[in-house]
Amino acid sequence: MSENVRVRFAPSPTGHLHIGGARTAIYNWAFARRHGGTFVLRIEDTDPERSTDENTQAILRAMEWLGLDYDEGPGVGGPYGPYFQTQRFASYADALERLKAADATYPCFCTPAQLDTKREAARARGGFAGYDRTCRLLSVADAEARIASGEPHVWRLKVPDDRGEIIFPDAVRGDVSFPADAVDDLVLVRTDGTATYNFAVTIDDATMAITHVVRGDDHLSNTPKQILIYEALGEPVPVFAHLSMILGADGKRLSKRHGATSVEAYRDLGYLPEAVMNYLALLGWSLDGETTILSRETLAGNFSLDRVSRNPAIFDDEKLEWLNGVYIREFSPSVFVERMLPWLEEAGLANAGEVESRREWFEELAPLVSERIKRMDEVVDMVGFLFRDAITIDPLAKDKVLAKEGAGRSLEAAADALMHLEDFDAVKVEATLRAIPESLGLKPKIVFQAVRVAITGSTISPPLFESIALLGKPRTLARLQDARPWATV
Ligand code: GLU
Repeated sequence: MSENVRVRFAPSPTGHLHIGGARTAIYNWAFARRHGGTFVLRIEDTDPERSTDENTQAILRAMEWLGLDYDEGPGVGGPYGPYFQTQRFASYADALERLKAADATYPCFCTPAQLDTKREAARARGGFAGYDRTCRLLSVADAEARIASGEPHVWRLKVPDDRGEIIFPDAVRGDVSFPADAVDDLVLVRTDGTATYNFAVTIDDATMAITHVVRGDDHLSNTPKQILIYEALGEPVPVFAHLSMILGADGKRLSKRHGATSVEAYRDLGYLPEAVMNYLALLGWSLDGETTILSRETLAGNFSLDRVSRNPAIFDDEKLEWLNGVYIREFSPSVFVERMLPWLEEAGLANAGEVESRREWFEELAPLVSERIKRMDEVVDMVGFLFRDAITIDPLAKDKVLAKEGAGRSLEAAADALMHLEDFDAVKVEATLRAIPESLGLKPKIVFQAVRVAITGSTISPPLFESIALLGKPRTLARLQDARPWATV
């Protein structure tokens, strides 16, 4: 295999980019990169009712977010365009003419009602439920006359009588076979002149010189049909690789019932593109059976179809979250600040200008947060207290912490001690506060939790002394004061 590898990801814009689709895209991308090949994005927008431009844009955004750059496709162009199926009708008409010239297609005038009756009868006999080839027996003159008279007709593939069973070597599943009696004279072009799904996909893959079709196994039953079309056209049949499904924890096919399923929903939940990419890459493929942390470079350098699993993969939210946490903890402070910024902006806590003017402060904050969260959305709750002038104290924390005897004395003592502190850094703040429990004869936990709740509004926060230092003296004193009415002396 060499530079000639050409693969495609061919989403239908009938919804957003789904986790399963994203994995298919990732495998195609990685396969192309691994072989120095070409990754094509083709939008299969032929279903006029369900395809929308909004969905196409969402798919493009999700691809970009994941870093799945494509070499040919919408916005990028390329020598095999256009890359929207609705703009490729001329090539389907062209292919039909080629098939006519090769006597590999014939018009069929059977009406839907007639076809239904035939099918019912065939079923009742327990026989072949495909088309009975009535119109294949019409003479050319008859057929032409009926077309000329305007009689509605479809165009069917003339499958050779002796075709026999269809066997193809699937790069993931090994040899796959479909019995000869399942082979049908399938419809290529409908009465309204539009290409059927299988015809369009095959013509696109053939005319785009696709060498490997890597797609979900929900398309497995389409493959024999597509192979027959390649054969009729005399085009080389690509290598097929069908990916097993992704299942939810309950063993059922991953769907909306399982919660978030679109890539953008995961983004909004605070997942990082590198973690989603890493997780999906290993959901059905493995580098060596052990590696769990995988960079995109390693993936692009090592992906191979023969290590793709034939078994369905189970999507495990907890594992993804764990992996996301690993990536978050690995960020340097300055990178974490960049990654945190959109979340702060969205919550109205800080903007890029503020981050620029107080970089050092933000970079001190970064590790306090990154070590404690698994998803980026947690940033907002965790650091909000540093940005707001006044905070609301969590009612539960009031009950559990401030209502305890000694909480009030703790706040008062903390305020008294911190008021006199000159250098308000974490080390000095710590030394100052650590002296309080003994001097009041209280347990450290009572003192520090009361101070934490007063300062942050919550029992869960970044480390206390660092948080106080970052908050600064005036706000710290004000908050210790503001919480007093709820605190039991
Ligand atoms: N458009 C099809 C889908 O979204 C994919 C077709 C293919 O990969 O052959 O399921």
